[in-house]
Amino acid sequence: MATAQDVRTYRHYIGGEWVDSASGETMESINPATGEAWYRAAVGGPEDVDRAVRAARAAFEDPAWRDLSQSQRGVLLRRFADLMAENAEPLAEAEVLDTGKLIREMRGQMARLPEWFHYYAGLADKIQGDVIPNATAMFTYGLREPLGVCAGIVGWNSPLLLATRKIAPALTMGNTIVLKPSEHTSASLLELMPLFEEAGFPPGVVNVVTGDGATGAALAEHPGLDKISFTGGPDTGAKIAAAAARNHVRVSLELGGKSPQIIFDDAKPADVATGLVAGVFAATGQTCVAGSRALIHESLYDEVLERVVDRAERIRIGDPLDAQTEMGPIAFQAQLDKVQRLVQAGKDEGARLLTGGERPDRTGLYFEPTVFTEVDPGMTIAREEIFGPVLAAMPFSSEEEAVRLANDTSYGLAAGIWTRDIGRAHRVARRVDAGIVWINTYRAISPTSPFGGFKRSGIGKEDGIESILDYSRYKSVWVNLSDAPPADPFVVG
Ligand code: NAD
Repeated sequence: MATAQDVRTYRHYIGGEWVDSASGETMESINPATGEAWYRAAVGGPEDVDRAVRAARAAFEDPAWRDLSQSQRGVLLRRFADLMAENAEPLAEAEVLDTGKLIREMRGQMARLPEWFHYYAGLADKIQGDVIPNATAMFTYGLREPLGVCAGIVGWNSPLLLATRKIAPALTMGNTIVLKPSEHTSASLLELMPLFEEAGFPPGVVNVVTGDGATGAALAEHPGLDKISFTGGPDTGAKIAAAAARNHVRVSLELGGKSPQIIFDDAKPADVATGLVAGVFAATGQTCVAGSRALIHESLYDEVLERVVDRAERIRIGDPLDAQTEMGPIAFQAQLDKVQRLVQAGKDEGARLLTGGERPDRTGLYFEPTVFTEVDPGMTIAREEIFGPVLAAMPFSSEEEAVRLANDTSYGLAAGIWTRDIGRAHRVARRVDAGIVWINTYRAISPTSPFGGFKRSGIGKEDGIESILDYSRYKSVWVNLSDAPPADPFVVG
């Protein structure tokens, strides 16, 4: 495993082998906490993508994979989950060096990721078809089959979590997969590959092609795919969906968000303040579900914001490898530039800064936890995803107004509702346009619970049974049980 001192070299992982790009091109990735390069990885072009898709197709058709029983696939997945757990520490370290996320968060995440493989391993031999009622002379049944070769294109903010959510259901159903991690964070996924081999997956079942957006586009455009699953920004998602449409390929999109946290007048201010801080400052705000809009009942508005500001100003910013650190750097320069640009837009458009808004005086791509008040719903900071530690607060006076403000966004990923009134909690949960609703909590995830957004936040679900079905195709088979020919060959039977 690489340390910050080594500049490692990574190559593509195709058909169970480490291979250079056909072009020989490479790219550098920096550790955002130090600004120093810590590895170089291959930049894949269409030739490399084609090689990976062909390897995945060959593996899909190879009896060594195709003829495994569903239970046998479950055994491989469980073995892999155990290996992942054994390697949790070096994988967590790679995530930290790549993303600048906290070692304490990544240790927590790595401790949980094997759950995804165990969950799907448990489902592996429970996915079954149907017997379909039809005329007595007919026997009709439905088969759930794998799709074939899937592509998984992912962003940089939690590389292994985002990839796991695609790999686990795809392999459980018997597909093969070609992954394209973000150009900013390729290391951890590549470090994972030998574990697939060790667990006993045949070569070519899981492949990784590294590179930038052009590499991702080459993969999305490849005519040899059967599904594309994407996690990233909405604009990229639209391009990928267009490519999928041209090739008539199934697509699922996990995109961005501008998620509201709605705080009613009966909520406990201390709990709510913690929930708001966790929702938007954890992971330096670089989560798709960041609760970046705080909608607070006017009776609690000042008290809640005072508490949030107080906690924000005490957040320990620092080295993400230090277990005491609470907020690390932004993952890369362009993302920091975007955060700064949007914070400036907030100031220019008349929102009032309660705290933060600047870079702290230290080396690395750090930005202060930032809270804006006097935010108008039409302002840029209330509408655009910032993907950084920036909270935009707005008061409301009625349930109706809270729902209207919550839904006044082009996104629809997540929402938080804070109230002790059980009727109101469930009423509002039904009315918010969000794929995930948390009541008196925030940012909880589990492999058992479908995850994904509405509107500009995406199409389809990851996790849960919903996800695995999306990695399968349904085939209806009709058997004529009678010996007699059709009564009338010109009428549909
Ligand atoms: P991005 O769209 O810039 O990049 C995502 C991936 O797509 C990268 O691997 C990139 O190289 C690739 N890519 C870029 N252009 C491409 C193209 N034209 N064709 C194919 N692939 C291309 O997103 P990002 O900045 O890496 O990630 C941040 C975004 O991801 C945020 O909007 C965030 O909310 C979203 N996100 C969503 C979820 C979710 O589950 N809903 C989870 C995490 C992040």
